[in-house]
Amino acid sequence: MDTDWMSVGKCKELSPTIFFPSDGVGVQAAQRICAECPVAEACLEYALAERVDHGVWGGKSERERRRMLRRRRVGRAVSV
Ligand code: SF4
Repeated sequence: MDTDWMSVGKCKELSPTIFFPSDGVGVQAAQRICAECPVAEACLEYALAERVDHGVWGGKSERERRRMLRRRRVGRAVSV
């Protein structure tokens, strides 16, 4: 999977710990950074495709990504 987008992410020069928060306040702080990131969409799709369990990717928390994957699975099952 293409990972060129990683080199232009807004988090590139920031501490990775920001994106692996331990509480909701930390998640929101990471999401504010992701909201201004030019590659948020690619980042999110990467995390979904690679089933990345931890951290904030593409502005979505672990829980939000799990929900998205569930919805996509249900959507695929319905359209088959
Ligand atoms: S969306 Fe967030 S985690 Fe992904 S590259 Fe951009 S700043 Fe980093």
